[in-house]
Amino acid sequence: MYRTLFNLVKRKIPKISDTELIALRSGNTSIDRDILRGKVNYPEKFTYQNKFPKDNLSTLLTEYDHTPIYPNSNNNKWVNFLGKNKYFSFLIDEQYGGIKLSTNELSNILTKITSVDPGLGVVTMVPNSLGPGELLIHYGSDDQKNKYLPGLADGSYIPCFGLTGPNNGSDATGSIDKGIVIEKDGKKVIKVSLNKRYITLAPVANLMGIAFELQDPDNLIGKEGVTVALVERSHPNLIQNTHHIPLNAGFPNGTIKGEICVDLDQVIGGEKNIGNGWKMLMECLSAGRGVSLPATANASSKVASFGMFNYIKVRDQFKMPIGNMEAIQEKFNTMIYNTWIIQSAVALTNDILDSGNSPAVISAIMKQQCTERGRHVLNEAMDIHAGASICLGYSNFLEKFYRSAPIGITVEGSNTLTRSLIIFGQGLNKSHPHIFPILDSILNDNLESFKQNFKNIVTHSLSLYRKSFSFSRDLNQQIVDFACLTNFVAIKGGSLKKEQMLSGDMADVFSNLYLAISVQYHQNNHQSSDKLTQYVITRLMNENQEKINKIVNNLGPERYLLQHLKKSNKTDKYQKEREIFQEIMENKKIMDEMKKNIYVEDNILGDLDLINKIDRDSSEYQKLKEKIINVGEYPNVVDIVKFD
Ligand SMILES: Cc1cc2nc3c(=O)[nH]c(=O)nc-3n(C[C@H](O)[C@H](O)[C@H](O)COP(=O)(O)OP(=O)(O)OC[C@H]3O[C@@H](n4cnc5c(N)ncnc54)[C@H](O)[C@@H]3O)c2cc1C
Repeated sequence: MYRTLFNLVKRKIPKISDTELIALRSGNTSIDRDILRGKVNYPEKFTYQNKFPKDNLSTLLTEYDHTPIYPNSNNNKWVNFLGKNKYFSFLIDEQYGGIKLSTNELSNILTKITSVDPGLGVVTMVPNSLGPGELLIHYGSDDQKNKYLPGLADGSYIPCFGLTGPNNGSDATGSIDKGIVIEKDGKKVIKVSLNKRYITLAPVANLMGIAFELQDPDNLIGKEGVTVALVERSHPNLIQNTHHIPLNAGFPNGTIKGEICVDLDQVIGGEKNIGNGWKMLMECLSAGRGVSLPATANASSKVASFGMFNYIKVRDQFKMPIGNMEAIQEKFNTMIYNTWIIQSAVALTNDILDSGNSPAVISAIMKQQCTERGRHVLNEAMDIHAGASICLGYSNFLEKFYRSAPIGITVEGSNTLTRSLIIFGQGLNKSHPHIFPILDSILNDNLESFKQNFKNIVTHSLSLYRKSFSFSRDLNQQIVDFACLTNFVAIKGGSLKKEQMLSGDMADVFSNLYLAISVQYHQNNHQSSDKLTQYVITRLMNENQEKINKIVNNLGPERYLLQHLKKSNKTDKYQKEREIFQEIMENKKIMDEMKKNIYVEDNILGDLDLINKIDRDSSEYQKLKEKIINVGEYPNVVDIVKFD
């Protein structure tokens, strides 16, 4: 019987390419597995010590003059400043001159820098994410580490990492640049045709990590596959002469081209790592995606929410502060809802990563959800700020974040693909306690292991199905319901890759459960507001319930077994929204949390913070109010416009 089943499942499972298999085997699992088991264990709060000198950070933030980092006419002043002051060394060990930070500290610093300027944030983020530094730390030979890490730590090397080209975007290795092993002057070398675009820091970088598909048609080394090598700016025939302008965000981004020859010892880790490039990238990406981009979304959401909290008290229309109007309160509540989710998820994920885990699926959830919810916060903020956020000037604290939001959404695995293909698809195979072992037993043609794992999944599924019949309506029950639903959706096997609407909705529910757990985790550790916590979790669960109902309705005959998972939502009462608005305005702990890790000093946010601490009837208040509500005014190009 098991042999027949084995063959049936074998036919049902999707074809898994080597690149997918590597992605599946990279990183590990954490709360994502708990969710699919149907029971969550909250981790311990991680304690860490800050290492980076506070004065160093204050100097950067107070002295930064808001000029574009690139292109500019200042000899790349800010890139050099960051490099020299160790901002590119946060992953590098002290023995190589770096200041290796905990994930928590790294995330907090990135948030604070981004809160001043998203472009400055990107420039700091990139050397501390996937790139030459991280790849050298994990895979470099001793010679390579000794040669490059000290220079990366003190800013004499500015790194960038080139994977993407005109023909390989989301399908990163599909039509990637090719490298061929040839013999030149009696030596084996790799001839690479480079055509990279969109590469962050490329215009200013002098140490490039480049990825290419290595081919060995003459069997000179007997190895092929995606390979990552290091080249310096002075490398013969390397061309770095054009840049892109990503939404005027002011950070360097451009191309790397040329027909070059690379020595085998320029491959990161040397000859033994030829063909291991995709594995190396996936292993680093699984942690990296969970930190940097979520930190930038955290920054923009906190700035928008903290600024708007103060602005709606100051801006009057119809003889009252706009914050008195329910239409504004509703939008503002949505901003806080999403910002609270982002900052809670960042806190939980940083703790998970600091405890030594690198959960790939959680990183994907963090990347997609934080950048998407961050964009939502900015949309609401722009509506409230109205004309003041459309016109550039000192008091516009939103536009630079609004312009940059699509960048975070596009890079490191574009959100559409991450949501509809990766989160649930990878989650099924990786986070599920029993599916990967079954897959593995089939890939290894191991009937015995298949038998055991099949028994496990049946027991697990029956137990969850039984538990899904419950009148309870709390978060734990929704986790059980989702885990049960997952086992039914999993029966679709490989067709899920095509059914991306279903996969996307399952991803949303999966993600929201992780986010709700984060919000509870944050409350357990900070006791900021029970009311806000309950509101956010209930709203996330309501979003989920709508999706669960839709998913069940869209299933095949199995939907008749799952009708009990369809539930009506807890009613959204207008009165509840009013109460939450009041809680946000009155519970000081909420805004204290928002203000953490953003720069509120000699800037518009500092003015907004100050104004609501001074007497409304004073002249000082009036003066500051004028400064806050004023928008930029610039001299006209011609004095008088003549009309014929
Ligand atoms: C500002 C910026 C900085 C960058 N920095 C770097 C860098 O430093 N190094 C580097 O190597 N790369 C970098 N990139 C490249 C970035 O990673 C890619 O832009 C990204 O992978 C998406 O590729 P694409 O833009 O070509 O979109 P496309 O691949 O053309 O995708 C188009 C749309 O189709 C969707 N899609 C594609 N395939 C699927 C699928 N199978 N299922 C569902 N939806 C799908 C995508 O989600 C997207 O919405 C950068 C890009 C930008 C814009």
